Amino acid sequence: MSILVKGGLIVTQNWKREVVKGDVLIEGDKISDVGHVKARPDEIIDASGGDVMPGLINCHTHVAMALMRSVADDVKLEKFLERTFAIDAKRTPEDVRIGATLGCLEMARSGTTTLLDFYYSEDEVANAVEQVGLRGYLGWTVLDEKFTTQKGKPIKNCENFIKGHKNRPLIKPIISIQGVYVCSDETWLAARELATKESTLCQYHVSETRFEVYEHQKKTGKRPVEYLSDIGFLGKGDVAAHGVWLTINEVRQLAKAGVSVAHCPVSNMKLASGGVAPVPEMFAEGVNVCLGTDGCSSNNTLDLFSEMKFASLMHKAHRWDAGVLPAQKCLDMVTLDAAKAIGAEKKLGSIEPGKRADIIVVDCNGASMIPTRAENAVSNIVYASPSHAVRDTMVDGRFVLRDWKIVTVDEPKLLKTAEDAAAKLIE
Ligand SMILES: [Zn+2]
Repeated sequence: MSILVKGGLIVTQNWKREVVKGDVLIEGDKISDVGHVKARPDEIIDASGGDVMPGLINCHTHVAMALMRSVADDVKLEKFLERTFAIDAKRTPEDVRIGATLGCLEMARSGTTTLLDFYYSEDEVANAVEQVGLRGYLGWTVLDEKFTTQKGKPIKNCENFIKGHKNRPLIKPIISIQGVYVCSDETWLAARELATKESTLCQYHVSETRFEVYEHQKKTGKRPVEYLSDIGFLGKGDVAAHGVWLTINEVRQLAKAGVSVAHCPVSNMKLASGGVAPVPEMFAEGVNVCLGTDGCSSNNTLDLFSEMKFASLMHKAHRWDAGVLPAQKCLDMVTLDAAKAIGAEKKLGSIEPGKRADIIVVDCNGASMIPTRAENAVSNIVYASPSHAVRDTMVDGRFVLRDWKIVTVDEPKLLKTAEDAAAKLIE
């Protein structure tokens, strides 16, 4: 099957960051040609008046929490956790699948093609991701047994999940580690051992709040990243979510270890964690930084378009510097840099021959996107585009959203199921 996406403004995200008018040829699950393409494809998609760009990559989600959207707003983190944990404790695996499906539909409609998810019952999340047709790097949460509501040992559950889901084309099973506040040295090191044995990626929450950092310091005398470095845990290719309360020494330790940071500006601001992640210092020290939305109870969307804009504005306001975190860098953080964070830079993150056909088309005919031309296309994407301007979303050469219609599943039916499940779960 070959498809020619014709006549769009291609935001390639190649090494020159070229934005060119032209065509993208897709053969099977890969991009085979970009530019003025002469071909006789099976199908032609008219993309004139649209941006054709790589699908976005969300590097920190708890996608199943879409069912808990807006259940604990405008309260302190402690109250927030109390409320979300109480609902979480009642949830069935089916609720996890329904919530994940809802989140995947929202992502498909807002141009996200890959998610790095962090939860338990990830087998249910995997079914939802696969059914909707997105690409999922899915991490089963590991923590000390005494802190969990999971049945059985979390590390064993994670191992079983990895072993059982290795060969699903759109799914990559990985490891999630909750954080220093619920994980002993043994748990961290057991997770590392499993990651090495299974050659898989590790993600973890780190230094999200001042409370977490100070409590850990009281207990161990060390800040979280210093501690993870000292116990020999930090590993090349890890993804650390949040990283708000970091010293420059910790930023350097992350850089040296080759750990990427998933920056979650909206969640951090909304929960009033206090402080702003030292992202400019991360760039200066060579840390790879990507973006994540976090879950729907703390964001309350999975929309990476607004996340890019918030990220940029947060740092500009904080540093009194309009040049910090420019639009191009924000786009890199949800495409190329995100692909690098998950070890997929050879196959995702740009529109170039040989890469997977994870592509979106953003409609630029609406009032909020006019004028769009090559010179301002990236700025419009970051600062002006509403996420519902996403017209088409394709993963591995297969449409998930086409002309604003979800084509892989019965969306109205699934939305009704989600509404009913939420009504039962949340009083
Ligand atoms: Zn999180």
